[in-house]
Amino acid sequence: MSTLERLAVLADGAKYDVSCASSGVNKQNKGGIGNSKSFGICHTWSADGRCVSLLKLLLTNYCIYNCHYCINRNQNDIPRASFTPREVADLTIQFYRRNYIEGLFLSSGIERSPNHTMERIYQVLDILRHEYHFYGYIHVKVIPGADPALVNKTGLLADRMSINIEQPTEQSLKLLAPQKTLPVLFAPMNQINNQMTQNASERKIFRHVQKFVPAGQSTQMIVGASKDSDLSIIKATETLYNRFQLKRVYYSAYVPVNEGPNLPALSTSPPLLREHRLYQADWLLRFYSFKADEIVNEQSPFLDTDFDPKISWALRNMQLFPLEINQASYEELLRIPGVGVTSAQRIILQRRLGNISYNHLKKMGVVLKRAKYFITCQGCYYGGIPAESALVRQALAPVAKPVQLCLF
Ligand code: SF4
Repeated sequence: MSTLERLAVLADGAKYDVSCASSGVNKQNKGGIGNSKSFGICHTWSADGRCVSLLKLLLTNYCIYNCHYCINRNQNDIPRASFTPREVADLTIQFYRRNYIEGLFLSSGIERSPNHTMERIYQVLDILRHEYHFYGYIHVKVIPGADPALVNKTGLLADRMSINIEQPTEQSLKLLAPQKTLPVLFAPMNQINNQMTQNASERKIFRHVQKFVPAGQSTQMIVGASKDSDLSIIKATETLYNRFQLKRVYYSAYVPVNEGPNLPALSTSPPLLREHRLYQADWLLRFYSFKADEIVNEQSPFLDTDFDPKISWALRNMQLFPLEINQASYEELLRIPGVGVTSAQRIILQRRLGNISYNHLKKMGVVLKRAKYFITCQGCYYGGIPAESALVRQALAPVAKPVQLCLF
């Protein structure tokens, strides 16, 4: 295969991995400048909020494992290709010099053994950092089961590392990814977390200590390939954040690519709304101090599709509302639907200067069409209906889309 053909195969194979934020779109040139392909270049956000483009590809799509949900599993009859570490490094530099990309997102199938693959990933980084003196952003996958020494030396050259957990429970892994286990996946996460903490304290004392994975680690879970509930997924997410201080957990709606007794049918649509709701729940865990079992519980283990998880929680706990905006604590303000982190901070700051009126709230970024059922302002309630769960639920329910009637 030519380099371009291999690039097409290996960039296409990487598109199911969302742990570097976003992928592109397909767009045909209609007489203007440039084409866009849905594979190859993805975007991520740096710590200062900039959006950067990354070359996203696999080092190889040969794999000795047989994860049932994966297009690259060894049982699939698909075009296979590999790059050498030098080819990946050269491609990265050439794309960088042409201003197509600002960094690299490198994943890989497991060729021969975890150590062999991890060593090759390391070699890419070694060439880029030490030969080309490339200082751009690099995100690499850690191959589960690889030697900790390899993970360590790769971590000293990468900006971010990720180990995809893919399934939230040991049972689903056993069913869908029989060669993987949670302890094997957790081991490198634990190692990276410990080394990041150690590195941070060493850098406080010695300024010239080399940084270890400065942009932190992330992971991805596939949603809808197994029968796991949202409760299992959110609980696993909470554990990952608490135990390994992950920067992000990404969710990828499963796109059926393989047939199997334990997988959804090929005609099943990817559960995109479920994925969206999980991202909202993840936001509540990270920024709103929610606990997993407040968002979903054994009685209702799936997220409500009609309402975002914060409204669902508020509707289940109407006895806590309405809250007086001029007296509620910061933590209570964060629980009000329609009040975000920024608006809660603005309310707290503004209250030092005087009482807040209902008209002030809109200017502070509060979404009143949601918040009005859950607050009072200077003792007045503006919801217009009694603050009862059933009535508020009805008022906030999404408007049904109009349906075109049949002419006959
Ligand atoms: S190890 Fe990775 S590439 Fe290989 S089959 Fe499993 S998910 Fe796919």
